[in-house]
Amino acid sequence: MPDDIRNIVILTGAGISAESGLATFRGPDGLWEGHRVEDVCTPQALERDPVLVHRFYDERRAKLADVSPNPAHEALAALDAAWLGDLLIVTQNVDDLHERAGAKRLIHMHGELQSALCARCGRAVRWEAALPPSAICAGCGSASLRPDIVFFGEMPYRMDEIDEALARADLFVSVGTSGAVYPAAGYVQTARHYGARTIELNLDPSAGSFYFEETRLGPASLLVPELVQQLLS
Ligand code: NAD
Ligand code: ZN
Repeated sequence: MPDDIRNIVILTGAGISAESGLATFRGPDGLWEGHRVEDVCTPQALERDPVLVHRFYDERRAKLADVSPNPAHEALAALDAAWLGDLLIVTQNVDDLHERAGAKRLIHMHGELQSALCARCGRAVRWEAALPPSAICAGCGSASLRPDIVFFGEMPYRMDEIDEALARADLFVSVGTSGAVYPAAGYVQTARHYGARTIELNLDPSAGSFYFEETRLGPASLLVPELVQQLLS
């Protein structure tokens, strides 16, 4: 790895958590745990059938108790702890496996399973149990709490910070993401535009493979520790 790499941005997707036992989004059948995206991942779905949408994320949240970080999460946490330059892990995942592995410089751009968001006053609170649609917001007292998940058509979190990190990055790495969901799918082009080296780690070539200077194919649990070792050696 060249010595001129100082600032790193790492984008992760569902593929990094697959070996921990969490299903990826699209999978071979294009569904997330048996559900169509339109039925569980849009503001319209929440409006139409809040019970179904809440139950879906309750199940995902409950499942977190059965899974653990894998060597890919652990390697990124080790890189975060050791890397002296800027480093930002931007995850599209709503699980908590990066932080459980110990990562600190982390942004959940698509929200978090263990957070509830008040649709009325915008307050977010940590939420580890099931979240019934009748749950009351402690901020405004209304029954407007929803899963703190960025649905399709909604604005991802902390985009300004992500854009700033991309503009400064010397290296952009994407791990286990299909490159189908924007704006994350466009980060490789932004990073390249500002002069970063770009590497993709994925099981299969993704929709965005073409934009990366280098693609390494294989399971994240092998490829990520390998890359981290290269960066730290
Ligand atoms: P995706 O499911 O669309 O794509 C997953 C990618 O990971 C695929 O390209 C696949 O080839 C690759 N992959 C699968 N197993 C892998 C492995 N062992 N090692 C390396 N790569 C592997 O995921 P996405 O691009 O992140 O987009 C899906 C959206 O779904 C995200 O926004 C996220 O919020 C949501 N989601 C999150 C989780 C989670 O939090 N764990 C799980 C499913 C979906
Ligand atoms: Zn509120």
